[in-house]
Amino acid sequence: MATDPDCLFCSIAAGSMGVEFVYADADVVAFRDIAPKAPVHLLVIPRQHFRDVRELAGDPAAGAALLAGVAAVAEQERLPYFTTVFNTGAESGQSVFHVHAHLLSGSGQIWAHG
Ligand code: C5P
Repeated sequence: MATDPDCLFCSIAAGSMGVEFVYADADVVAFRDIAPKAPVHLLVIPRQHFRDVRELAGDPAAGAALLAGVAAVAEQERLPYFTTVFNTGAESGQSVFHVHAHLLSGSGQIWAHG
């Protein structure tokens, strides 16, 4: 499994940062965002290092595992609804270049188009 020794989220996933996992399975871990933007703000990340969602798309099994992880976290936390965000690229606000799903809930509709 590819990991990056210089990547913060690889270190978190490896358990070496002391971050408490809300959820963990063979492929993903989830933990609370340190700067929550909603009453529930979790980050769901693959254990393997992928820079962003574009790189993740090159490994469909890993992509499916991450989405399954998002759903599993939502079920475990009994979230009746949630918003999932993948920032991609610094201009979008991506600040950690290890793909992560923001899982937000608890304050109604967070994003609307149109
Ligand atoms: O999408 P973006 O890359 O900006 O998201 C990174 C997220 O990681 C931020 O919401 C930030 O608060 C969170 N973070 C964290 N723990 C860290 C560093 C960043 O939860 N040690």
